[in-house]
Amino acid sequence: MKIAIIGGGIVGSTAAYYLAKEKDMTVVLFDDGNGQATKAAAGIISPWFSKRRNKAWYKMARLGADFYQKLLKDLENDGFENDFYQQSGVFLFKKKEEKLEELFELAKTRKQEAPLIGEIALKSYESLKDNYPNLSGFERTLFASGAARVDGDKLVKRLQSISQLTLIRKKVGLKKTDNHQYLIDGMVFDKVILASGAWLPSILEPLGYQVDVRPQKGQLKDYYFSKNVFNHYPVLMPEGEADIIPFSDDKVSVGASHENEMGYDLSEDKSILDAIEKEALPYFTALEQADAIHTRVGTRAYTSDYSPFFGQVPMLPNVYAASGLGSSGLTTGPLIAYQLVQLVLDNPLALKATDYPIANYIQKQKADDTMHKK
Ligand SMILES: Cc1cc2nc3c(=O)[nH]c(=O)nc-3n(C[C@H](O)[C@H](O)[C@H](O)COP(=O)(O)OP(=O)(O)OC[C@H]3O[C@@H](n4cnc5c(N)ncnc54)[C@H](O)[C@@H]3O)c2cc1C
Repeated sequence: MKIAIIGGGIVGSTAAYYLAKEKDMTVVLFDDGNGQATKAAAGIISPWFSKRRNKAWYKMARLGADFYQKLLKDLENDGFENDFYQQSGVFLFKKKEEKLEELFELAKTRKQEAPLIGEIALKSYESLKDNYPNLSGFERTLFASGAARVDGDKLVKRLQSISQLTLIRKKVGLKKTDNHQYLIDGMVFDKVILASGAWLPSILEPLGYQVDVRPQKGQLKDYYFSKNVFNHYPVLMPEGEADIIPFSDDKVSVGASHENEMGYDLSEDKSILDAIEKEALPYFTALEQADAIHTRVGTRAYTSDYSPFFGQVPMLPNVYAASGLGSSGLTTGPLIAYQLVQLVLDNPLALKATDYPIANYIQKQKADDTMHKK
């Protein structure tokens, strides 16, 4: 069977990795890479404190965090290094003490079905200041040991390095052939996965589809230090947009912005980044001593009700898609990709596809509508 995957972010790369391991399968991954959300992501895997009411989303996020344990094991068994993932823990900060208590109670309840959350405890500044001398600006924080940080770019490169996979770095389109196959970049495929993030509309609209996916710009800064002294710090999550992620390779990432009206713009906006830095500094003053600073900008994909979706594209047999992963796609992406792989292989799913119905977001336009538009 010949399978094409369009999009090499976390979804496309995870799907490519698992499919390429299957017997008698030729897998080709097409990736343009420009604006990719995965390589711009902050990398926080800590879904358990979300107050979103969407139960289907929370289930996906919780199981998505769990799924990393399988992915890590599978990569390790295949001889890959897992240096893209560290279970660093998280410190959550709230300006109001009662909000911290509320979150603590929520975490205790959620731990029952999410043991990965690990140790949860309220910790005082006094008890932490010797171990984490660069922290400040709070009296108490909520700690959870199971939270993780993921380097999206490293992870994707690792997944793509599986030898059975062909990677083609270019922007491509999708066409139907007369005998129920698909034509991409001059090659014919039996099945196709569209893992094209915020760019899904540009692939499906030429085939007469309306797609409820819009782009959201996200910017963050990476602060580099000559000595790796923050390796043991958990992820820091104050209120607002200034999450602080101390990576293990001399880098501390801070962000990210959520900009809705910017389309696919990838330019750096200094005023927005400065505002985020200002929010972060009271908690982590060491940022001022960074030796170098780089900016990353990426494009998230959102649906109009903020829910992710996956499944078979309506009226397009053997074409599957996922998008709308929003600001939690590094958490949910590998699990969603694994569901797409099961659909391709005709296996049962861990998630109920009807909880994330693709038909709500991708609709074939009636011939009349298309004519009207022309
Ligand atoms: C600044 C920022 C911070 C974030 N922080 C977090 C976080 O801390 N935790 C978390 O869980 N999530 C986070 N996210 C969200 C997460 O990164 C995304 O939801 C997730 O990476 C989306 O993955 P994806 O594979 O669907 O899309 P993408 O990673 O965007 O990949 C899609 C790929 O498809 C390619 N493509 C599209 N069309 C074509 C075409 N026609 N031909 C070839 N290639 C094509 C694109 O170039 C791109 O490489 C963050 C996102 C951003 C932008």
